[in-house]
Amino acid sequence: MENNAKIYVAGHRGMVGSAILRNLKNKGFGNTHTRTHAELDLSDQAATEAFFSDEKPEYVFLAAAKVGGILANQSFPATFIRDNLAIQTNVIHAAYKNSVKRLIFLGSSCIYPKLAPQPMKEEYLLTGSLEATNRPYALAKIAGIEMCWSYNRQFGTKYLAVMPTNLYGPGDNYDLSNSHVIPALIKKFHEAKLANASEVVVWGTGTPRREFLYSEDMADACVFLMNQDEETYTNSLGSADIESSLFAPPLINIGVGHDVTITEVAQIIGQVVGYQGDITFDVSKPDGTPRKLMCVSKLTRMGWTATTTLLDGLAMAYQDFKIAGHIGGK
Ligand code: GDP
Repeated sequence: MENNAKIYVAGHRGMVGSAILRNLKNKGFGNTHTRTHAELDLSDQAATEAFFSDEKPEYVFLAAAKVGGILANQSFPATFIRDNLAIQTNVIHAAYKNSVKRLIFLGSSCIYPKLAPQPMKEEYLLTGSLEATNRPYALAKIAGIEMCWSYNRQFGTKYLAVMPTNLYGPGDNYDLSNSHVIPALIKKFHEAKLANASEVVVWGTGTPRREFLYSEDMADACVFLMNQDEETYTNSLGSADIESSLFAPPLINIGVGHDVTITEVAQIIGQVVGYQGDITFDVSKPDGTPRKLMCVSKLTRMGWTATTTLLDGLAMAYQDFKIAGHIGGK
């Protein structure tokens, strides 16, 4: 990408979109464009097409999505499938009609089968049943990957789908009713410290294993991929040759390549927060899947690896939590 390339970051107020915007600015890409949800509703096809034909961005990061925890996914399945299908369909089609050079579509590791072997490779896509709770969201994201691939084949576009592992970082969701484990535990440990509480209750047995990627590293990987030279970027787009055994979607996993137990992550958060009391486990709460780990060898071969350790990332996330004042509430 040239330094003055015209770049549109869709979803720039989200955890990853805001990190992508910061990463671009830090790397000297100043010609970035954003719209708030109030300014542009990406689920509105006419508004999205008007934006693209007026602005003519050259590069697009599609980080806009309807996201939420297990509770939100269970309560609003229609909203999750409809909004995500609409947003990605409108953006991908408008990008094609307006000759966008490259587009990176962000998804999530929940696109892989519930019982996929670990670590999960890109080729496991569509090899088994999905987790039931976020199936509408996952199916929308799978349709997005298929759209990128289909547009690449039919129209010669260069659209790439990236699937991050569990993310955490500045701007995370700290609402205990639907947050993921890291923001939930940051909040619980922080409040326990302030209250001089003698125990923090962690859900489940503590034995499940999860891989955690710092959102700024995720953003760095996205910008790294978008910024590849023409040959490398094109090679990363899988294969469009339906006859070939290499026939594969333009899909790349983004992760750190190793996982930790929930007990380990709870201990590190306790250390970062400076909490001195006990950690106990509420085994009546669900463990979820025993292990979730991405295979990141495709990305590693291209020359990118995550650099933020879990300890450092959690320390930065905790700073952000305190500054942003997510104290109290639910
Ligand atoms: P998952 O990766 O899709 O299973 O989503 P989560 O991030 O919500 O949960 C990961 C693991 O952390 C599960 O085994 C949870 O039981 C465990 N966990 C422990 N304490 C908490 C908590 O306070 N909130 C959440 N969301 N998960 C917790």
